[in-house]
Order: sequence, then C-alpha cells, then structure tokens
Amino acid sequence: MTENPLDTFLRALPKVELHCHLFGCVRRATFTELVRRQGMPFSEEEIEGFYTRGEKPVGVLRVLRALDSQLIRQPDDLYRLAFEYLQDAAAEGIRYSEFFWNPTGTVRQSGIPYRAAMEAIVRAIVDAEAGFGIVGRLVPSIDREADPAEAVEMVDWVIADRRDEVIGIGIDYRENDRPPELFAEAYRKARAAGLKTTAHAGEFGTPWTNVATALDLLQVDRIDHGYTAIDNPEFAQRCADRGIVFTVVPTNSYYLRTLPRERWALDHPIRHMPGMGLRVHPNTDDPVLHHVTASQAWGMMVRDFGFGLDDLREFMLNGLDAAWIDDSTRRAWRAQQCAEFDALRARLFAAPAA
Ligand SMILES: [Zn+2]
Repeated sequence: MTENPLDTFLRALPKVELHCHLFGCVRRATFTELVRRQGMPFSEEEIEGFYTRGEKPVGVLRVLRALDSQLIRQPDDLYRLAFEYLQDAAAEGIRYSEFFWNPTGTVRQSGIPYRAAMEAIVRAIVDAEAGFGIVGRLVPSIDREADPAEAVEMVDWVIADRRDEVIGIGIDYRENDRPPELFAEAYRKARAAGLKTTAHAGEFGTPWTNVATALDLLQVDRIDHGYTAIDNPEFAQRCADRGIVFTVVPTNSYYLRTLPRERWALDHPIRHMPGMGLRVHPNTDDPVLHHVTASQAWGMMVRDFGFGLDDLREFMLNGLDAAWIDDSTRRAWRAQQCAEFDALRARLFAAPAA
C-alpha cells in the first residue's frame, strides 16, 4: 500500500519533542513484561484497558502511578524505558527530545535513589545518541499532587548532582487544586541554580490565571498546554508580545472528553491559539497511551485543526526557539531543518496525488 504523501512528509520532517513523559512512552510489550516479572499486579484485561483509548478517553495518570508503585524496581528498568523511548522517537524523525520524568515517585514509590535513577536515564541518553543519532535531554518534573516541600527537595536533588543532560525542571500531574503558586520556592531555587523551567498550566480547563502565575511568579521559559490563555484576550496578547511558546498536545484527553465530537476540532483552543498570535509547537505528551506518534500529532494540526504547511514551518521554528539548546546549535539546526523542510515540501508537491 502506498503511503499518503502527507504522511511521508510528516514522518521525514525533522522534529523536536519538548513535551513527552517517559512513563507515557512505555511500549506495551515492555509494560507487560514488567507486570509479569512483578507477579501480575495487573491482569491481561487491565493492561488491555490501559493501552486502549476509548471514544471519550479517561486520563492516563493511573498507568503512570502504577509504574511507580508496582513496576519500576531498579535503575535498569529506567534505562530500558528511556532507551526504548529514544529509539522509537528517532524512528519517528525526532532529532532532539527534552522529556519529563518524575523523580519523587521513583524515589518514594519505587525505592530508587535519585542519583542512581538519573544516572541510568542519562546512560540511556548517551547510548541512544550513539545508536540512533537522537539527542535526548532529561527534565525532572515536579509531582504537583505531592507536598510542595517534596518539590523543593526534588530541585535540591537535581542541583546536588548536575549533569549536562539534565537541563531544567517541569511540573505535571493533576492541576486541579494544585495551582502553580504552591511551587514558587522550588522554581526560585531551580532558576537560581541556572536550570531552565517549564510548567503544565491550563491543561484541564483550569483557569487562565494558572498560566499567568506560571509565567509571572514561577517565571517559566515556556508553557506546557496553556490552552485557557485564550480565555483572556488581554493576557493572550501579553503572551504573544513576549513570544512565549506553548507545547500543545492535539490528543489532550480533557478536550476530547468535554467537547462534543462534531465540535471538537472546531472549538479546540489549539485551532485558535496561532490566530491570536500565540506560538505553538505540537507534541505527543504520552504517545503510547494516547495512541499517537509524533508524525500523527503533527498531522492532526493539518487534518483536524486546518493548518497549512507554512504554519507547520512556523511550528517547527517555534520548537527550535523554545528548545533548551545553545544559540549556535539553534542557528545551525534552524538552517538545516528549514532546508530539509523546503526540500520535503518540494517533493510533496511533486508527488502524484494519492
Ligand atoms: Zn504533559
């Protein structure tokens, strides 16, 4: 079967990934193997349920928690997860990935000390670059459902054991009742130590003020999700003026669940953000659990939200601008990826209609 030319284009497109969670990337076969090793804390039916995405998808947080509490037991498990994720990402045309991992769960639930866990993931990053050419960077992420003191402690761990591959911090898990201001101290410490920062905000229909607090109080470098920023046009304009990049997720569960099916793609904030001057960059978040690849996530920007190839080129450049790389690398990758984009586009239009 011949592949649709747009899909060929999207797969070959040089991509960076800035919003992806390690535990949301676990191959089903690996997950099943870990479950068996641990004496089947989950039945085959439950695993099937975890890896099936329904019409109105429920969140994936339960699977992520299960990995911490039941399945990850040694540093090599984390090595395997990270190596396999980077291998899969490289096969999707991802050249560079900054991915999240929650140290608090690993230390508290899996019983693996921060340094041993972090070093295993960094080893996977080094091996994956040697094997597949993909550049990986680790972003330890605050578990916002835990006590804010744990967030400060997590930042202390990161600062105490600096590695070039560990470049910044994020925050994730359920945002409801866990607004960004609770974590101001952790972010202050991270910034003071020269770490980059991002934050999940405005993900679950939570108020636009959470996005504003992440920017103004936590002083983050970029925003993950951030959809409700458009609820206040004045604030959205401020984000546009500042050039803030939003790492958006076309498969976000909240909007798939809450918007009527026939209105979903029309009313989704992602469709409206660029028109308000907001800079977006599409990402997979939890690719395996969301049943999406990076190419498909980019494809949704075209097929569901109606963007064109010029827009995709902008999104690609937004990703490079928001990536935590040095400026000479940024300049080199911009030139290289723009040239590749334009060559691929020329080939796309030369292709016979599918
Ligand atoms: Zn996320």
